[in-house]
Amino acid sequence: MTSPPFDRAIVTGGAGFVGSHLCEALLSAGTRVVCLDDLSSGRREHLAPLSGSPRFRFVRHDVTLPWPEPWPGPDAAGRVLVAHLASAASPVDYHRRPLETLRAGAAGTEHALAAAQRYGARFLLASTSEVYGDPEVHPQHEGYHGDVDPVGPRSCYDEAKRYAEALTTAHRRVHGTDTAIARLFNTYGPRMRPGDGRMVPTFVDQALRGVPITVTGSGEQTRSLCHVDDTVRGLLALAASDHPGPMNIGNPTERSVHAVAELVRDLTGSASEITAVPAAADDPRRRRPDIGLAGRELGWEPRIGLEEGLRHTVGWFASRSTVPTPVDSAV
Ligand code: NAD
Ligand code: UDP
Repeated sequence: MTSPPFDRAIVTGGAGFVGSHLCEALLSAGTRVVCLDDLSSGRREHLAPLSGSPRFRFVRHDVTLPWPEPWPGPDAAGRVLVAHLASAASPVDYHRRPLETLRAGAAGTEHALAAAQRYGARFLLASTSEVYGDPEVHPQHEGYHGDVDPVGPRSCYDEAKRYAEALTTAHRRVHGTDTAIARLFNTYGPRMRPGDGRMVPTFVDQALRGVPITVTGSGEQTRSLCHVDDTVRGLLALAASDHPGPMNIGNPTERSVHAVAELVRDLTGSASEITAVPAAADDPRRRRPDIGLAGRELGWEPRIGLEEGLRHTVGWFASRSTVPTPVDSAV
């Protein structure tokens, strides 16, 4: 077996949707993984497939507070990755916890960078297409600086990530920390929570229950949806490279929200009607990544088409016999 690109990794937000898939992929590659997560939007059940591995450890911890020692004892050699994903990510979650979201981007990123510096680690920030705001440039390339309202309803998330990017950049300049910034575009797949308010889990859940599928506003606003397996492969490719980013990771296949609702309804065979609900405030009108940089630098591009990925996701939702339990206690 070839050696893993990283001997050890700390994944903040590893009990969340993307984080749990990242932990799984790192473990499969032979990396020892410590997940730090406060379970504010993550779930212990996401870690169930990993908890049997002697190379995996979960620590329930709020990363905005000083960090515990992830590797007690002398076990500190080898190449280390610190992947910072801890942050509310769905509009429902960050509207519910705006101050915590800002802190995760600020103090959380500061602690994560300090840990990376201490371990001589590669640092990976999970930033977001939200840094482009409601974009004037389409598709969005990494050189576009965005159009974000600092006092708008999404500002707690957008500005937290913009600050996190600035902090990461300054750490690299001042301390020479080996940093990388990934800008994730809308990612979907198994382990999203039906109640998290995002489009895909909401539509799939509604379609499977046969209740109306709620499309906001005209439904003409667009998103470009990337399957989580492709996103995680992109994150790992960036982590394994020496590129600092920022680098878009997403799928450029762009669809209107209404078209996604129709596709979900078709794939589930549901009789749900598609109903219009009031437009969300400050909702970006369009979003599509320019992934030329990731293609050139990493040879990465998504492999999973929207229909295939949604079919896989619908299958996962349909296979769950009960509604997920609320976030539960620490491991
Ligand atoms: P998620 O809500 O499923 O996961 C976030 C995780 O972070 C959760 O497990 C939560 O409990 C944890 N967390 C939040 N604050 C914390 C804190 N202070 N201390 C410790 N843990 C904390 O969201 P996700 O979709 O998996 O997003 C993961 C990361 O990827 C986020 O940083 C998000 O901004 C970024 N991202 C995701 C998407 C997407 O479409 N999923 C798009 C762009 C960026
Ligand atoms: N959306 C919708 N119905 C829902 C949830 C979301 O029409 O029940 C819309 C939302 O207004 C936005 C798009 O779907 O236009 C994507 O929303 P999501 O929260 O998934 O991602 P984000 O807006 O953060 O890109």
